[in-house]
Amino acid sequence: MLSNLKPQAADKILMLIEEFKADTRQGKIDLGVGVYKDPQGVTPVMRAVKAAEQRIWEAQTTKAYTSLAGAAEYRNAMANMVLGEVPGDRLASVASVGGTGAIRQALELARMANPDLTVHVSNPTWPNHLSIMKFMGLPVQQYRYFDSETRGVDFDGMKADIAKAGKGDIVLLHGCCHNPTGANLSMEQWQEVVAILEKTGAVPMIDIAYQGFGDGLDADAAPTRLVASSLPEVLIAASCSKNFGIYRERTGILMALAENTAARDLSQGAMAFLNRQTFSFPPDHGARIVSTILTDAELRADWAAELEDVRNTMLGLRSQLASELRELSGSDRFDFIAHHRGMFSRLGATPEQVEKLKTDSAIYMVGDSRLNIAGLNRDTVPVLARAIIDAGI
Ligand code: PMP
Repeated sequence: MLSNLKPQAADKILMLIEEFKADTRQGKIDLGVGVYKDPQGVTPVMRAVKAAEQRIWEAQTTKAYTSLAGAAEYRNAMANMVLGEVPGDRLASVASVGGTGAIRQALELARMANPDLTVHVSNPTWPNHLSIMKFMGLPVQQYRYFDSETRGVDFDGMKADIAKAGKGDIVLLHGCCHNPTGANLSMEQWQEVVAILEKTGAVPMIDIAYQGFGDGLDADAAPTRLVASSLPEVLIAASCSKNFGIYRERTGILMALAENTAARDLSQGAMAFLNRQTFSFPPDHGARIVSTILTDAELRADWAAELEDVRNTMLGLRSQLASELRELSGSDRFDFIAHHRGMFSRLGATPEQVEKLKTDSAIYMVGDSRLNIAGLNRDTVPVLARAIIDAGI
């Protein structure tokens, strides 16, 4: 039976990691995988995470199951962090296996509610969005998003395309720090998106995986909060992998805002059922770390301060890279790097130019020219800037 399986195409980003490891050149630079690294190249365990783990270890007396929806303290703390004011009468939520698990469950939930839906996604989007939807057999429509001239958002194109979404379709939006482009909507533009969704009756599904990496914890959540307070139905898939640095703990949450309390209860039941069918109880350790931090004033302040350091380090690298490139190119055509937000920027280079960076300069980035800003440090920024110019980008 098992020999009937077809070989799976290898994940491009994971392949790049292997290639990077095998490269023996001194001074090679990895700008591929989407993991935060400090200037020493380390993905640290955050101070508050260590402290919370110690508290959990000392206080925990059982490892018995939690509930299918996950611990209530965690879900409440996350709803507060993402939504600010929590509309309890409309909110259903379940803990998930990372942000990816929340995305998968959100799509399953949407399909249970509307078997005929189409999912509208930005072009480009995180490749795993497309891959999950393809695997599930969901019809997908891409909406215009990235303007390869300005490296900003093609907002007219986006508006025209999402206006075509039908009632009960899903429009997937990145809450902040768009992956892979780094290009984001302004709050005014978000307001226009809300107005379009209101008119069409399409349901927004917000993937928020980088809250705190762009303009700050509250600023990054502002678009999600606007959508949540303006529209009757919203799905939100949030990840704690990046902002708590707990990638391997697999910590995420799916929130569904329903039109009324009866629909909230139906959603809550369906979401718990989906967990039961998929993995039964969601993982608890990461969720407990997060709720321990968010509900303790001291730990929360320390975590928020460390997250701010991470964010400011990336912003510093962005402005250093933009200014080096301004000098070397004698133009402001790379200023978009300073305007982008989050861990990534799409350079807008051709696959040949990306290949050239790898072969000539041992600089690794994803083939679509997405670079991970956090893979840089103050010393490697000038090296990258020089290589970008030399590759003719
Ligand atoms: N959404 C986006 C846009 C992402 O970039 C990621 C992580 N790369 C995720 C969701 C999911 O993250 P995780 O499953 O690791 O929590």
